[in-house]
Amino acid sequence: MSGTLYIVAAPSGSGKTSLVNALLEREPGISLSVSYTSRLPRPGEVDGKHYHFVSRDVFERMAAGGMFYEYANVHGDLKGTARNAVEPLLAAGHDVLLEIDWQGARQVRAACPDSVSVFILPPSRAELERRLRARASDSAETIARRLADSREEIAHAGDFDFIVVNDQFADALADLRAIVAGQRLRRAAQLSRHAVLIADLLKNE
Ligand code: 5GP
Repeated sequence: MSGTLYIVAAPSGSGKTSLVNALLEREPGISLSVSYTSRLPRPGEVDGKHYHFVSRDVFERMAAGGMFYEYANVHGDLKGTARNAVEPLLAAGHDVLLEIDWQGARQVRAACPDSVSVFILPPSRAELERRLRARASDSAETIARRLADSREEIAHAGDFDFIVVNDQFADALADLRAIVAGQRLRRAAQLSRHAVLIADLLKNE
């Protein structure tokens, strides 16, 4: 039985990364894929942990070599998920989570129709702006562009299987955990997990 591929997308400023980190702490069976990107690290970002930081040239050569499961130009930077961060894990029955944009999500849905996709919304436009401004590392110009880009991202919320509104963090986290719990109770997973039990229950005395 192959693992489940989760996709989580959101406009920046929705609190997605904190929510995903909290989910993964509580669900250690899910691995987070570390993406490749052509953008430079922000202060505090660590190569191999937050992203694999590579030059645009290296990224483009990897893309041409078919090494990406999905990739896209996101806010002017190339971002992509390596095949080897997904395919071997799923085949071994592990769950994998991708934090990617709507363009990548579309490619993953096509490659893996059984993937489970979640879109996280901020509770209001005002709160989205407040959260973006609180991130001191970005310039005013970057913040203004991200606000504009958020509309494009949110316009695709309807393509996702689930939508979670991150107003109260604890409630949004509970929603994410409910999605994972529901997925684990699906027929295919349960039939495989409880094959011995079901065979036993069906036995004639
Ligand atoms: P950041 O703030 O890290 O520069 O950019 C975050 C944006 O890039 C988010 O929209 C996030 O979902 C997207 N992103 C990060 N990694 C990937 C990836 O591997 N593939 C795609 N398609 N988008 C990614």
